[in-house]
Amino acid sequence: MNVPFLDLKAPYLELQGEIDAAVTRVLQSGWYLLGDELEAFELEYATYTGTRHCVGVGNGLDALHLVLKAWDIGPGDEVIVPSNTYIATWLAVTQVGATPVPVEPNEHTYNLDPSLIRTAITARTRAIIPVHLYGQPADMGPILEIARAHKLFVLEDAAQSQGARYDGRSAGGLGDAAAWSFYPGKNLGAFGDAGAITTNDDALAARLRKLRNYGSAVKYVHELQGGNTRLDEVQAAVLRVKLRHLDEWNDRRRRIAQAYTKRLANKGLVLPKVMAGAEPVWHVYVVRSPDREALQRKLAEAGVQTLIHYPTPPHLQGAYASLGWTEGQFPLSEKIHREVLSLPIGPHMSDAQVESVIGAVEAALATSSCLQAAQVH
Ligand SMILES: *Cc1c(COP(=O)(O)O)cnc(C)c1O
Repeated sequence: MNVPFLDLKAPYLELQGEIDAAVTRVLQSGWYLLGDELEAFELEYATYTGTRHCVGVGNGLDALHLVLKAWDIGPGDEVIVPSNTYIATWLAVTQVGATPVPVEPNEHTYNLDPSLIRTAITARTRAIIPVHLYGQPADMGPILEIARAHKLFVLEDAAQSQGARYDGRSAGGLGDAAAWSFYPGKNLGAFGDAGAITTNDDALAARLRKLRNYGSAVKYVHELQGGNTRLDEVQAAVLRVKLRHLDEWNDRRRRIAQAYTKRLANKGLVLPKVMAGAEPVWHVYVVRSPDREALQRKLAEAGVQTLIHYPTPPHLQGAYASLGWTEGQFPLSEKIHREVLSLPIGPHMSDAQVESVIGAVEAALATSSCLQAAQVH
């Protein structure tokens, strides 16, 4: 049986009637940017995340970037970022001219290790960007404590965590602001690019509404040097439909993750660990193997598509050659990047597909000498 990593068409087919109606409503309205659909989505998403404000923008990277810009973070400033994350987290920092200061993760949760943050703080540090990687909230309690003690902003990179909770509260409602991506493959995905910022800070929200629209709140009055990054009406209408199904879709992901965790235990793979108090939404289900390439090849031969999140950490990307980081400087992150493999997961996987993945992983482990060796220690 062929199992794709993620079926992006399935959510559309499930909700085709509702989505077609929503898109048609926008097309027939004659109003395509900064209208009723965006306003309604912003209200609904703020309610969903338990925050006072949601500001729709063009994508997740712009959401991160705009918040740093709104806080006047720029050249000479430092921002603490995870050493293992999608490169967007770092790009937002360098886009405003600030310096990313990487901190290693906790090896079990893959999220920022709070105990390593203090030593990374200098007189130039302005903010911390914890990422809720793979859909599991970062350990926000201690992170917020450190930030308060040092008067630092906390910007949650919540791109992978729509619906996740930490100590009962919504991810994205914990820090000073949160950046969301609605890239098609995220748990809440648009049919194109889209993003948003949530915050409880009234002044910040007002500033962000200007920054996303040429620095303007009133047409042709430009108070700030803003950009152009807006969540359009078609995408907002689609996201409103999908938001109503997000919790159910996340529940289906949770059940698949539970099946993987139960059935793949004690077979030589490192499985994901859920931190006490965290309710992840399983944006991806990541296992680790010392012979990741062999495992991926065998699964591909069995028709199971896997992905790697991510093959190269940001500090070793060509984009950051100028920062002068070399191999070995963030060994934990480098090890994680060498070993991780993401199994198929998504709300529209059938039970048979889940069984097929489990069977294929079991078969791969049984035939791989490298992986058997790994079981010994
Ligand atoms: C997807 C993602 C982003 C960027 O979102 P885009 O909408 O693609 O710009 C940022 N950070 C993380 C952790 C992501 O996974």
